[in-house]
Amino acid sequence: MNHLKKHINRRGFLSGTIAGTALIALHPFSARASANQAHLRIMETTDLHVHVFPYDYYADKPVDTVGLARTAAHINDIRVEATNAMLLDNGDFLQGNPMGDFIAYERGMKEGDMHPVITAMNTLGFDASTLGNHEFNYGIDFLMKALAGANYPVISANVVKEMGATPREDVTLLPPYVILDREITDGAGETHKIKIGLIGFVPPQIMMWDRKNLEGNVNARDIVETARAYVPEMKEKGADLIIALNHSGIGSAEHTEGMENASVPLAEIDGVDALLTGHSHLVFPSPTYDGYAAVDSQKGLIHGKPAVMGGYWGSHLGVMDLLLEYEGGAWRVVTSAVETRPISRREEDRSITPLVESVEPVLASVQDIHDQTLAYVRRAVGKTNAPLHSYFALVADDPSVQIVSNAQLWYIGEMMKGTEHEGLPILSAAAPFKAGGRGGPEYYTDVAPGDVAIKNVADLYLYPNTIRAVRITGAQLKGWLERSAGMFNQVEKGATDAVLLNPNFASYNFDVIDGVDYQIDISQPSRFDANGEPLNPDASRIVNLTFNGAPVTDDMEFIVATNNYRAGGGGTFPGADGSTVIFEGPDTNRDIIVRYIVEQGTVNPTADNNWSLAPLGDTTVLFQTGPAARTHLSDLKGLTIEDAGEGTDGFAQFRITL
Ligand code: MN
Ligand code: MG
Repeated sequence: MNHLKKHINRRGFLSGTIAGTALIALHPFSARASANQAHLRIMETTDLHVHVFPYDYYADKPVDTVGLARTAAHINDIRVEATNAMLLDNGDFLQGNPMGDFIAYERGMKEGDMHPVITAMNTLGFDASTLGNHEFNYGIDFLMKALAGANYPVISANVVKEMGATPREDVTLLPPYVILDREITDGAGETHKIKIGLIGFVPPQIMMWDRKNLEGNVNARDIVETARAYVPEMKEKGADLIIALNHSGIGSAEHTEGMENASVPLAEIDGVDALLTGHSHLVFPSPTYDGYAAVDSQKGLIHGKPAVMGGYWGSHLGVMDLLLEYEGGAWRVVTSAVETRPISRREEDRSITPLVESVEPVLASVQDIHDQTLAYVRRAVGKTNAPLHSYFALVADDPSVQIVSNAQLWYIGEMMKGTEHEGLPILSAAAPFKAGGRGGPEYYTDVAPGDVAIKNVADLYLYPNTIRAVRITGAQLKGWLERSAGMFNQVEKGATDAVLLNPNFASYNFDVIDGVDYQIDISQPSRFDANGEPLNPDASRIVNLTFNGAPVTDDMEFIVATNNYRAGGGGTFPGADGSTVIFEGPDTNRDIIVRYIVEQGTVNPTADNNWSLAPLGDTTVLFQTGPAARTHLSDLKGLTIEDAGEGTDGFAQFRITL
């Protein structure tokens, strides 16, 4: 996708992206517009999630893949190229990295305080913004204080303080829309007045995701219903052009009440001329959306109207070129070209090449908060009573996995309240991500008892997955665990020093499920191979599987807290093929762990030993792990283990008697 990309419109405007370098406009569009025509360029940022600096605060190191300071380079280029340009943000700016958490949990937002992402956006001169779902994560009061610092209008049509009989009678939290009086220069160099209408939307699911903050304070309306009411009103008030700032993804063409990703039915509404989309953290136009009904994934059109999605965390700038024509007293869009400009490129060897440099004034505007955030991620936000290491995570229940499950259980427990699923047992699936293997003998989580810093949380949860819950049967639960149990080689009863782990099995597919008790009998063959393909469909390694002391039966039902990767079919687990998902949360599992630690103060993630390898009687197995494991042997309870000297490639070897 980073090869030659061309946009040729009917009037012969040509521009290209060659090998990912910034797009070079060979002929500025405005030069091609004739006297009654004007070119308007709309720039979109979306899902910034407080990423201003190109910095990964969890890893505590610079990165080239994120940051509004980088996206700003494209913004500056475009302002030079285009006569008429507007810069719009599509929401989810206030939360999502440790800088956001630092403001929310540490510094706070007092009356008159500036929020750093707003400071940076003011520096760039945004024309308007809408709200994303994450704007509500820290409560309405925090949000309103942050917005008070914005030098641009922030709009949202479907977040309602007082519901009226129709949306037009609602009292909304923010202005539902704004009509900006602008001057636009036509192809002959003449300026004309134009009224540009902007209207904002957020997924109504905020009422579930942030129920604690929102219930009793606001309500959310369906996106399409709200648009149908306000778009004619905007037309009545003289809007020449209406652009929807839709913090919502591109999904089904069929409108269903309260749908989360409503961009396609929204585009179908008369009077909506163009759409900014987002929320999904994806890129549009792109082949990701091939085959979607009413969507042209190459040209960037939905129902024939231009639409764009500019990635996330500043990864891309969305760019929408509209050629407008003045005819019969009104402006209309005659043609459009849509593209996204990335700030970095991933090479075939997976290394990252930056494509732009940071814009200094944007960095400088929040340098002080960046520095304070660095100090914040490096200092304690909570305490742990137990050492959090993963040296034995593949052979015994383990605190580094337990804390993830504890946090997921805490979060999903809240989310199930008041739903049809309330009352079902809630379990949690989590796997050790850093467990040696191809990562080498130092590739383990290792946090000592005592202070836990934010940067440690990245160590506990390596991937930016988001939270999910699935609803499965006892039979599926057993299958899920059988899939995990493929981690181990089959070992004959009475064997001496058999090799325990299957080196082809990825540790992130070794899901431990908390909330039930079970043992793994490795004398039996594995039901699945390392990739999840059926191997011995009748085999069973999972024994003594119980819930609350009673055997788990096939027809029991459970909620399992997990992540988007697993729930969507990653690793091919029984019960996790996408069809069992009953809750999709917007929060990353990592954020949930941070919130859990901050809220608990001191965590005590001592493993509850809910699973173990089944005793086999006089059988010994060898297991390799990091040499630093030697100092933690005494942490292990209920496992007969001894040092067995050096392993291979710098690993240490241990002997376990089953
Ligand atoms: Mn987002
Ligand atoms: Mg456990």
